[in-house]
Amino acid sequence: MIELNNFIDGTFRAPATGRYLDNVNPATGAVYAKLAASDASDVNAAVEAAKRAFPAWSTTPLAERAKMLHRIADGIEARLDEFAATESMDQGKPVSLARAIDIPRAVWNFRYFADAMQHHTEQATHMDAKALNYVNRKAVGVAGLISPWNLPLYLLTWKIAPALITGNTCVAKPSEMTSHTAVLLGEVMQAAGLPDGVCNLVFGTGVDAGSALVGHPDVPLISFTGGTATAKHIMGDSAEHFKKLSLELGGKNAFLVFADCDLEACLPVALRAAFTNQGEVCLCGSRIFVERPIFDEFLRRFSAMAGELRVGDPKDPQTNMGALVSAAHRDKVQSYIDLAREEGGTIHTGGKAPELPAELQNGFFLEPTVVSGLAPDCRVQQEEIFGPVVTITPFDREEDVVAWANGTRYGLSATIWTGDLTRGHRVAHAMDAGIIWVNTWMLRDLRTPFGGMKASGVGREGGAHSIDFYTEVQNICIQY
Ligand code: NAD
Repeated sequence: MIELNNFIDGTFRAPATGRYLDNVNPATGAVYAKLAASDASDVNAAVEAAKRAFPAWSTTPLAERAKMLHRIADGIEARLDEFAATESMDQGKPVSLARAIDIPRAVWNFRYFADAMQHHTEQATHMDAKALNYVNRKAVGVAGLISPWNLPLYLLTWKIAPALITGNTCVAKPSEMTSHTAVLLGEVMQAAGLPDGVCNLVFGTGVDAGSALVGHPDVPLISFTGGTATAKHIMGDSAEHFKKLSLELGGKNAFLVFADCDLEACLPVALRAAFTNQGEVCLCGSRIFVERPIFDEFLRRFSAMAGELRVGDPKDPQTNMGALVSAAHRDKVQSYIDLAREEGGTIHTGGKAPELPAELQNGFFLEPTVVSGLAPDCRVQQEEIFGPVVTITPFDREEDVVAWANGTRYGLSATIWTGDLTRGHRVAHAMDAGIIWVNTWMLRDLRTPFGGMKASGVGREGGAHSIDFYTEVQNICIQY
């Protein structure tokens, strides 16, 4: 059985507890590896290693740090197929998706931040004739990085790359459900010659390893991506030490379709927004609102397209949707489908597990599910489901759809489809969401601010916003 061990101070080590968690392949339900079940003593060892590595790494010339990040990117790229197969086996997503999106994006995270930081400049300002102000940026210290299971390597590297390029060292804890590609990343970092202790990976549960990292007095910064409920613990546990916090949390994102939009272009994007990665993307457009004149056509065509998606073996390149991450998560998503029925919704397609060959029968699969007939304030339209379930609701007036789009506790992203650019701008400005797409979805530019409002998070990362978060800013004033 494969053992997935912590990567601390440049070497792979068994957890101090000697205990391991079962690591399950979501497509088969079988345990295929054991994951280190770390606790506070492993976290302490990792933080100590990161502290020892900090003085040398934070004073390594930026150009050298950038070269190192590019070497790590090269190392991932050289093993692209292995990374993609591993991510798919560990998470349940189609291997084609991991190969096209997740792993290339992890490579790009390293390349982007390696280059962006080298071109980042600050302005010096003359306060008056006798003084000069300028800004100095300092690495913060040991960064604590905690990531979820839906886009494992993609989101882990979105934190590691900016933390390292700005001169921090780090201790990262990926989700206990999907840590396998992080082990491969540790191997790549070792091979690239990253100095020992600069990046440490500690595996295990949030309760044992995650909370020890958040509560550690020598970790002054936490970047967390995950659920809103977990974030409340993180805020509480880090308050004692006034940590810098970035919280990227859940969403219940609205997808607004106006009758004047290009419907042929909109439909396939709406389908992707609903069901990419089994609907397990924080940005998924899970609440579709369609203007009345095109509602019936949209519902009919969208449901037919959803019904044609191929759900099954993640290894098959023809597969559109793989398995959900775990049995517990599949049960949660199924419970919302049952709730949709109880709340009076009509299920147009999906709603159950697909028929699959014997080897996949214990996997955690669900069909893409389309529901209509639910009020915007019912639970299914209010709570994050994080699976392949989408609601479609008609609207008559722009002010109503704006109110419904904003009428949840979340505020991560919103998508607007319209042929009227003036309306596109007007409705975008009216959205209470951090990321708004007009006539597209999930078109990402790593220079732009990423993050949510309300219960979707605190702070922004991306481009200069990441540089702000991963550094302390000093204003230096010189009188002359
Ligand atoms: P989760 O909150 O259960 O876990 C996220 C991470 O936090 C895991 O590594 C977990 O081990 C750790 N953790 C759990 N309890 C902890 C504690 N008390 N202290 C420290 N760490 C702890 O989330 P998940 O189920 O892995 O991910 C799904 C959620 O993530 C969804 O809500 C989704 O919307 C959100 N998400 C948000 C974004 C974004 O960028 N906004 C991106 C992806 C996922």
